[in-house]
Amino acid sequence: MSVLFVKNLRFLDTTLRDGEQTPGVSLTPQQKLEIATTLADIGVDVIEAGSAAASVGEREAIRLISEAGLSSEICTYVRALEGDIDSAADNGADSVHLVVPVSDLHIEKKMRKSRDAVMKMACDAVEYAKGRGLIVELSGEDASRADQQFLSKIFSEGVEHGADRLCFCDTVGVLTPEKVADFIPPLTKIAPLSIHCHDDLGFALTNTMAALKAGASCAHVTVNGLGERAGNTPLEEVVMALEVLYGCPTRIKKEEIYYLATLVSRLTGVPLPVNKAVVGEMAFTHESGIHAHGIMREPSTYESIKPEMIGRKRRIVLGKHSGSASVEAALHEMKYTPDENQLKAIVKRIKQLGDEGKRVTDADLMVIADAVLAIECKPFIRMRQFTATSGSNMIPTATVTLVVNGEEITGAATGDGPVDAAMQVLRKSIADVADIRLEEYHVDAISGGTDALVEVTVRLSKDGKIITSRGARTDIIMASVEAMIAGMNRLLEVRT
Ligand code: MN
Repeated sequence: MSVLFVKNLRFLDTTLRDGEQTPGVSLTPQQKLEIATTLADIGVDVIEAGSAAASVGEREAIRLISEAGLSSEICTYVRALEGDIDSAADNGADSVHLVVPVSDLHIEKKMRKSRDAVMKMACDAVEYAKGRGLIVELSGEDASRADQQFLSKIFSEGVEHGADRLCFCDTVGVLTPEKVADFIPPLTKIAPLSIHCHDDLGFALTNTMAALKAGASCAHVTVNGLGERAGNTPLEEVVMALEVLYGCPTRIKKEEIYYLATLVSRLTGVPLPVNKAVVGEMAFTHESGIHAHGIMREPSTYESIKPEMIGRKRRIVLGKHSGSASVEAALHEMKYTPDENQLKAIVKRIKQLGDEGKRVTDADLMVIADAVLAIECKPFIRMRQFTATSGSNMIPTATVTLVVNGEEITGAATGDGPVDAAMQVLRKSIADVADIRLEEYHVDAISGGTDALVEVTVRLSKDGKIITSRGARTDIIMASVEAMIAGMNRLLEVRT
C-alpha cells in the first residue's frame, strides 16, 4: 500500500471558528485562549481563531490568542470586505481565511451578484489583505457545487493578485471521493490547496482523505468534528487514519489527543458521542466475553489502535455479554479468589443484572461476590436522616445524620444545587475518617416522564483506589445519596 501524500501535510484547525458555529456553542475569549494554547501544543499548524467581524468578543479573543506567542499561525475568517480584513490585521492575526462564494447558487441567490463582480471582489480583497501584511488563504465557498472552470479561474486570478494558498470548501457536505479525484488535482497545480469538508452525509473524513491523496496539502479540521450542522472533519480521525491506516506520520502529538477532546467537550458543552471514533467513551471499552478474553490475551485481536497512543486507557466492563475470564480478572483485581463453581455462580448473577438492563458497577460485583463467597460485611456508614432544600430565594442546603463506625454524626452543607449540597454534606461528614473524592457523577433516566426511575452512577476514589456504584430511585437526590453511601461503604468496609 503506497499512497503518496504531499510531504509535510498541514492542519488548519477551525474549532474556534466553524466549530464555534455549532448551534448552541459560544466560548468566552479566555476559553478560546485555553483551547488555542492546547491546539498549538499538540502541533496544529494554523489556528483559525474566529471571525473578526462577528463581535467585540471575537476580536478580543483573536487579539488574546495572537498576543499569546503560540507556535501556530493565527488565522481569522474574513469576507471579501475591507472592514473584515482591517479587523483581522488590527487584532494581530497572521493570516486570513478569505471566503468568497463560487457556486452560481451562492453568487446569484445569496449575494445577488454576477460571477464577474465576485471575481473582482475576490481579487481586490486579496490585494488589500496583502497590502495589510497578511498571509492569504483564498477560499471558494460551496466549491463542490461550483462550475469547476470558474473556480479554477477565480483561484488563478486570486494567486496572480497575491493569494498564498487556496481552499476548496465542501460547504454543505455533498462531495464524494470520485468528485474529489476529478476536481482536486488540477487545482493543486495553481497553489497549495486546503480541503474543508462537512459531515452532512457522513463523508467528511472520506472526502478529506481523498483530497489529501489527490494532492491537497492541508486539511481543515475541528476537534471532535464540531462545526455547522453535522460538523466538520474531526482532527483526531484524520490524524489516526493517516498514521494507522496509511503509515503517514504527522507532527501531531497523538498522546494529547484525548485530553484535547475532553477539554473541548467540557468548554463547549457538547458531549462526546459515546461511540465516537477515537475519542468516544466506548472506543476502548469491551464487554463481550469473547472480545474481552481476546483482549486480555493479545490486545490487537480486537483493537486497531493502542489506547495509550492517544493518551487513553482500555476498560473492560461487566454485563450480560461478559464471560468468566473477564469476571475473574475483575474479581482478582478486587482481591477475591473464587473457585470454579463460585465463579460460575457470580457470572450467572452478573448476567441476570445485565438482562434487567442494568450496568454492573464495582459495588454490584462486590455485593455479589460477598454473597456467593459468604463474606459478611458490616456497613461502615448507615444513614439515619437526610433533608435537602432548594428554592428561588435560597442557597441549596442538605443536612444529614449518619452513623459512622458506630458514632453518630450530624452535618450540613450548601452547594450549587440540592444534589451538589447532598454530595458535599456526605463527603464532609466522613472527612475525619477518610478522604473520599467524587471523581465522576452520571445520571440516566430509565424511561420518559418526570416520575421515571433515575439511575445515578458515581465514581469515587480513596488513596488511589477507585470504585463505581449505583443508586436507582424516582428521586434524583435520594438516588445520588444511595449511590454515594453504597460506594463509600465499599471503600471503607470492614470484612469479617
Ligand atoms: Mn465550514
